[in-house]
Amino acid sequence: MKCIKCGRDAYHSRNTEAVELENGCLLVIRNIPCYKCRECDEILYTGDVVQQLEQLTAMAKRMAQELIVVDYTRAA
Ligand SMILES: [Zn+2]
Repeated sequence: MKCIKCGRDAYHSRNTEAVELENGCLLVIRNIPCYKCRECDEILYTGDVVQQLEQLTAMAKRMAQELIVVDYTRAA
């Protein structure tokens, strides 16, 4: 996996994302598998992971809670 910003090698890592939804809910997703650039710390996700994140976001929108914390490794 190469960094889309600087083209250097990216190594496998895990990331936490916090997304604020339109309904005011803060969605926190932990342990997301990602690639991280050695040079610029850019985070890259594979297509599968992006799809899964979209599904989790759609699910969170229906829950109408102020704060939702999801562990990716358990949700996927
Ligand atoms: Zn980079």
